[in-house]
Amino acid sequence: MTVKFVILLLVFYLLFRFFKKAPPKLGGKQNRGSVQTSAKGEELVEDPLCHTYVPISNALKWEVDGKTLYFCSRQCLEKYKSAHEKT
Ligand SMILES: [Zn+2]
Repeated sequence: MTVKFVILLLVFYLLFRFFKKAPPKLGGKQNRGSVQTSAKGEELVEDPLCHTYVPISNALKWEVDGKTLYFCSRQCLEKYKSAHEKT
């Protein structure tokens, strides 16, 4: 019976939707250091010094060793820079 099959598929689909929509109860597991996205869809970057997430448009950029680092403030940038250049 085709109708039964369709209903079965629908039930599975709804169950799938339900489980996907269910909010994760385990809040502890987050990817540290990865790029996150803000509510506006803007990319958030992590300040390597104070570990604050800043929208990429507000962040201070510093390119070093082919990597781009982002900082929340000039203070953080200068601090990180002087620590990095000490060697
Ligand atoms: Zn900072």
